[in-house]
Amino acid sequence: MDVIQIQDKTFETLITESEILSAIDVVAEKINNELDGKRPLFVCVLNGAFMFAADLMRRVKLECEISFLKVASYEGTSSTGRFKQLIGLNEDVKGRTVVLIEDIVDTGETMVMLKKQLYDMGVADVRMATLLFKPESCRKDVTPDYVGINLPKDFIVGYGLDYNGYGRNLTDIYTLINK
Ligand code: 5GP
Ligand code: MG
Repeated sequence: MDVIQIQDKTFETLITESEILSAIDVVAEKINNELDGKRPLFVCVLNGAFMFAADLMRRVKLECEISFLKVASYEGTSSTGRFKQLIGLNEDVKGRTVVLIEDIVDTGETMVMLKKQLYDMGVADVRMATLLFKPESCRKDVTPDYVGINLPKDFIVGYGLDYNGYGRNLTDIYTLINK
């Protein structure tokens, strides 16, 4: 068990690199079986999913494209409150199968918003692949199509996920111990 410090917080090892990679093997196999012949467009949701996307795509053997997007949030002036906007998806997505690659699905807000925007852009089938899923936090009546590992609600860092911008380069995943 490895204990690390990032700024004011202490974390301990939760999932090792080899456990992460075994989970990704399973996700990739499922995608290879289910999406054969569909020429999917994989879309990595930056920043957090960059490491998962790299390891996942090395294992996907389909004819496919890979792209990247960022999600920008801002405070709206209307009563609907918070809006989120896609940045950087330039491909023509009409009629395609799109697989969103996320690091983690927590409340499910981001997943629901992204799916809706992609369907509004004319995508035929939107699927969600996430390395990590917190089923107890997920408020939405939706589950990701491909999940690597289910987790409790606790805050985690590593393998792409950050605390105040730090920790993304850690190869294992760590959980917060001093709350
Ligand atoms: P959701 O919209 O599902 O609530 O949250 C999605 C985003 O919240 C993730 O893509 C991630 O950026 C962030 N997030 C959720 N849980 C955690 C966590 O435990 N650790 C870190 N570092 N980010 C998280
Ligand atoms: Mg994310």
